[in-house]
Amino acid sequence: MAKSFTILDFQTRFPSDSICLDHLMRVRFGEAMDCPKCAKHGRFHRVKKRPLYECAWCGFQVSPMAGTPFERTHTPLAKWFYAMYLFTTSRHGVPAKELQRQLGVTYKTAWRMGHEIRKYMANVDGDPMLGGHVEADETYIGGRPRKRGKKGEYPWRDKKTAVFGMVQRGGDVMTRVVRRATRKSLIPHIKANVAKGSTISTDEYHPYWSLPAEGYRHLMVKHREHEYVNGEAHTNTLDGFWSMLKRAIRGTHVHVSRKHMSKYLGEFEYRYNMRKQPEQMFNRLLASF
Ligand SMILES: [Zn+2]
Repeated sequence: MAKSFTILDFQTRFPSDSICLDHLMRVRFGEAMDCPKCAKHGRFHRVKKRPLYECAWCGFQVSPMAGTPFERTHTPLAKWFYAMYLFTTSRHGVPAKELQRQLGVTYKTAWRMGHEIRKYMANVDGDPMLGGHVEADETYIGGRPRKRGKKGEYPWRDKKTAVFGMVQRGGDVMTRVVRRATRKSLIPHIKANVAKGSTISTDEYHPYWSLPAEGYRHLMVKHREHEYVNGEAHTNTLDGFWSMLKRAIRGTHVHVSRKHMSKYLGEFEYRYNMRKQPEQMFNRLLASF
């Protein structure tokens, strides 16, 4: 069982901006490094009262915040660390309101911090090739119900975002925002991310019927006939991910526009894919900058 990183552990480990800065320096550049200027190897020492470290030999200065989102804000580093801690430990995501309250920053700052962190979570996650037995499915997420739809109009669909997902059983999940759930938009994602020869379970939706022709073993369940499991064939793993994601977005974010959807998806993918080593999430996120 993975050891959890409690809030008390966090506060003991990162009590101040200065300790956070030291940690960032170590995570990004290691305990000691070759100086980019004089090429000598050694420890860089902290410059007093400035967020910089310098070479003991030539005085060359390095900023551990350079190139990170921390550099561009006035928000103290310890608050950024705490925000990242919340993102990597919460199961359902962190709404901006919650960040605002916990960090004592403005709503606008909290919202921006959340988006920066999500962006990096999506980056760290990467996209390994899926194989073995993969489940694939499309769904619609977000959107607000219209008060009164025009006659014959589906009140949700045009406001919701179409999302395609694939999950390797026992492995990683991968999602993509798509314009529409058609064969042309779905199949290329499968071809690019699932190894040929893998087994793919889907529902009976037409676009997937071409999978055998693309070199996959295709298993199907007929959701419309209320068939959810047929031997090995089912999409229960992915269904579980969708319902967790939808519940979280409904519960914490109220509305996620199409424009921002992929960042939210990246956040949830990362958390799902790191589920077996949650204690590593925080450091991997820091190292990603
Ligand atoms: Zn030097």
